[in-house]
Amino acid sequence: MLVSAKEMLTKAKAGKYAVGQFNINNLEWTKAILLTAQEQNSPVILGVSEGAGKYMCGFKTVADMVKAMIEDLGITVPVALHLDHGSYEGAKKCIAAGFSSVMFDGSHYPIEENIEKTKELVGICDELGLSLEAEVGSIGGEEDGVVGAGECADPNECKMIADLGVTMLAAGIGNIHGKYPENWAGLSFDTLDAIQQLTGDMPLVLHGGTGIPAEMIQKAISLGVSKINVNTECQLSFADATRKYIEAGKDLQGKGFDPRKLLAPGFEAIKATVKEKMELFGSVGKA
Ligand SMILES: [Zn+2]
Repeated sequence: MLVSAKEMLTKAKAGKYAVGQFNINNLEWTKAILLTAQEQNSPVILGVSEGAGKYMCGFKTVADMVKAMIEDLGITVPVALHLDHGSYEGAKKCIAAGFSSVMFDGSHYPIEENIEKTKELVGICDELGLSLEAEVGSIGGEEDGVVGAGECADPNECKMIADLGVTMLAAGIGNIHGKYPENWAGLSFDTLDAIQQLTGDMPLVLHGGTGIPAEMIQKAISLGVSKINVNTECQLSFADATRKYIEAGKDLQGKGFDPRKLLAPGFEAIKATVKEKMELFGSVGKA
């Protein structure tokens, strides 16, 4: 069922595990993630970037597809449909389209403006029972063409944003979107710890989950991270499985060119990646 992310994340923070946000790009992606969540009896968050929303013909198309799919597949675990790194306007569009959760990424604004815009969205989301994610301190790497350097958020600014009544808070702790470079310094647990001390029960969000070593993920969860975003890893496993199918010449055998056959290995690969992440994050059986 489609729900806001509030309850699942409150439970995750209290239970010391994390709920995965898996970004979707099309029907196969969405179906693979929903089916895996149901099989693992895990809550799940479907992430949609503004770019992916545009690609899928708008937020309404996405929301209607997700709702219909939840009904048709008989998905009973909690599912949140969440805008990832939304602009202020994008957040409003997703709310109108029927999303159950939005992220407003005001990290590139001066803190005063980030606070002002986040505050307005807290009011709207509260009224409609939707969850809202805010961000402090930009997260490095590339997200829809926006490149940032992996910085660490100011814990005091995190507290200011958390106090506005957002549902969950993303803070830069040295994490990066996409593949991590060889010389990556790792997560700053001192920053994370300081943020948690000041924000208390607030579920914290770790972006750029692809390629962070398992022990760092577990340590981050122990320090208050209750939502972890995974995007690139599903893309890599889908591409790898599809490449193998083509390279083995399977599309040239019989009806191997049928898109339902051609996309099947990639679909299974996404399912395997999602399952692996749910086990690592500890959300299996927590629906
Ligand atoms: Zn992100």
